[in-house]
Amino acid sequence: MTSDGAARVTKVVIVGGGTAGWMTAAALSRLVPSGVSVTLVESEEIGTVGVGEATIPPLLDFNRMLGIDEDAFVRATGATFKLGIEFRDWARLGDAYLHPFGTHGRDIGGVSFHQLWLRQAALGNPDPGPIGDYCLSAVAARRGRFTRPSANPESVLSTLFYAFHFDAALYAKLLRDMAEQDGVVRVEGRVVAVERDAGTGFIEAVRLEGDRRIDGELFIDCSGFRSLLLGDALDVPFTSWKHWLPCDRAWAVPSQRQGGLTPYTRATADTAGWRWRIPLQHRVGNGYVYSSAHIDDDDARRALLAGLEGEALGEPRQLRFEAGRRDRLWERNCVAIGLSGGFLEPLESTSIHLIQSGITRLMSLFPDLGFGVTEIDEYNRVMLREYEQVRDFIILHYHATERSDSPFWDRCRTMAIPASLSAKLALWSGKARVFREQGELFTPDGWIAVLLGQGIRPASFDPLASALPADESARFLAHVRDVIDKTAAAMPTHEAFIAQNCAAR
Ligand code: FAD
Repeated sequence: MTSDGAARVTKVVIVGGGTAGWMTAAALSRLVPSGVSVTLVESEEIGTVGVGEATIPPLLDFNRMLGIDEDAFVRATGATFKLGIEFRDWARLGDAYLHPFGTHGRDIGGVSFHQLWLRQAALGNPDPGPIGDYCLSAVAARRGRFTRPSANPESVLSTLFYAFHFDAALYAKLLRDMAEQDGVVRVEGRVVAVERDAGTGFIEAVRLEGDRRIDGELFIDCSGFRSLLLGDALDVPFTSWKHWLPCDRAWAVPSQRQGGLTPYTRATADTAGWRWRIPLQHRVGNGYVYSSAHIDDDDARRALLAGLEGEALGEPRQLRFEAGRRDRLWERNCVAIGLSGGFLEPLESTSIHLIQSGITRLMSLFPDLGFGVTEIDEYNRVMLREYEQVRDFIILHYHATERSDSPFWDRCRTMAIPASLSAKLALWSGKARVFREQGELFTPDGWIAVLLGQGIRPASFDPLASALPADESARFLAHVRDVIDKTAAAMPTHEAFIAQNCAAR
């Protein structure tokens, strides 16, 4: 026993084998100190949530950390490359913009590029065009082009960032194979009870159907929305964010691929939520995320099917959820990773990232010598803050709209927003200031793309942007746009890149 009464961690038990469970198992099997065993319990009969196909760039680091070859991964999961998200009809009907992964232009003399662009837009002659024209990821996405970035910081290709669209079930299978090869023991079965120590309240074991018992010292709850350990057994409360993010259901259906492979996710705003379109090599993932208070299920299902480009491959499946998170994600000897800890709708494809973030933080605070309050508090502080930052970014998309064509959009446009988001908007509204907090997921370029894309123009710009003579500044912008345009034109098409390097067989 350690000083705080907890046993040393030699046995880790993961409950759940969805994306969260197998990502955690694969990472732990490679990275925990030797002498620590990992067991994963999952129930095929219960199954997984079965969606979660769009990701963001940090996933590349996770795969690299596990030593996964990227081409092999793309082939094995039917993946495509993702340069950003196209938002249609969000600011107003008929409008579209991209939130690209990557940077806009280049800062000069300590002045952010977007400040130069805002000044040029204010001068108006010549019109600088949309800010997306100055981002290689955005221009390449629009033209259906893809190549990998350059490691040379002098090259404009170094400003390109990407992620993937993949088949979540195939990714879980890939990770499962790796984890099992590395010694993770998989147990098939349904957890029916959780045993806790009467004194400390720590979880001691899970009981499975058939009177089986699995004991351990560290329990990782990857049981999905059920939150079997953190929520049910340890009774950690759930804080709902439904008043800010009212969407609580989704219909999802795959469809046949038609036409070219777009290297971006599409999110189209609808009357009571939004529809996703995620292109994979072998099919397209589609869904309608909606507020059940604003549309009935049948109408939402019809809207999803009416918006498909190819034929539906099966019947739509319904999912129910609530935006929010548990008040602590690490409680006693249990850490919740994935949907068991919280859920933010997939508008910015952040759930798998929050899994990754939970895993990397758990690794850096791993309780191999027992459970210290300081480590647990730090984990909760950092993770809860990250949930809030992602929440604010998602709320921005709903709130910053001119749409008034349905009660849903009226509600989103007029609702009160979190103080943390109001503060960001206040900084932006004066001189377009964007600050990134330490560890914040979304970059200033991401905020700038969405703020401008949603039509929020600041009153002014940084006076430092006027230090550069107007004609010089205009020439600089024209040069940046030209280099990006030519670079994108020289890139292979997304299909050609995949066919040459990583086509699924
Ligand atoms: P699950 O997949 O639900 O897995 C739970 C596991 O626990 C299963 O193996 C189950 O069998 C097991 N289990 C449960 N109860 C028991 C029991 N009693 N005994 C034994 N085992 C049990 N994320 C993204 O990053 N990008 C997206 O594009 C995206 N789109 C989404 C769209 C929708 C509509 C929804 C709802 C989510 C989306 N997500 C997305 C989130 C993503 O799907 C999840 O974060 C991810 O799949 C992880 O889920 P999970 O592993 O936590 O839970």
